[in-house]
Amino acid sequence: MEKTLLVGGVVSLTTVDYPGYLSVVIFLQGCMWRCCYCHNQHLQSVSPTESLPWEDILNLLKTREGLVEAVVFSGGEPLQQPALVDAIEDVKKMKFKIGLHTSGAFPEKLAQVLPLIDWVGIDVKYEFERYPEITGVPSSGEAARKSLNLLIASGVEFEARMTVYETMNASSITNVLKEIAALGVKTVALQKYRDEKENVVEHSIFSDKLLLTDISKCFENFYIR
Ligand code: SF4
Repeated sequence: MEKTLLVGGVVSLTTVDYPGYLSVVIFLQGCMWRCCYCHNQHLQSVSPTESLPWEDILNLLKTREGLVEAVVFSGGEPLQQPALVDAIEDVKKMKFKIGLHTSGAFPEKLAQVLPLIDWVGIDVKYEFERYPEITGVPSSGEAARKSLNLLIASGVEFEARMTVYETMNASSITNVLKEIAALGVKTVALQKYRDEKENVVEHSIFSDKLLLTDISKCFENFYIR
């Protein structure tokens, strides 16, 4: 691979990062957003000197052939890295399914890699107009909306996931979920926010069973985690 992929970490076996398949997750360095609830702050900036060598990752994947079916590129924001396409091509040669976790920050780059991807987990962080309240970055919602529309149009299988943070407003959450259902999103996961000690900080929306039932009817698959 000519460009250098900056890898922040690897999980060599998980059951939860690619639905229905055992997978290896590769966490890439770098994210230009600054979400108030980010659990991967150590991956937000890039540190080439601390990157795991790509050859080591490929060697690890060789030991996983026949044991796991999928490799997921996560982050940080994997689409931020110029070397991602080459890395995906290396992994595809090994016959793994390819998963991608993305914030939706880079619609053009998403369009470029989608033909290589089997499944995507994409964040929907809040009402698109209110994204900066979560990400700290102006216009982040516009990029996310574009990415979601691209993904819907592509036909690639995906799940939209929302972390429900304590400051988020229930009607804004409901509005955006109904908006993405109307756009054509079929699978949604609402994720309870966990603090840095992994304690659940449960938003009041999770106690509103009537509202959750109403929202769930908008989707073919609706999960709470
Ligand atoms: S987009 Fe993801 S990695 Fe980036 S700051 Fe937000 S939660 Fe963290």
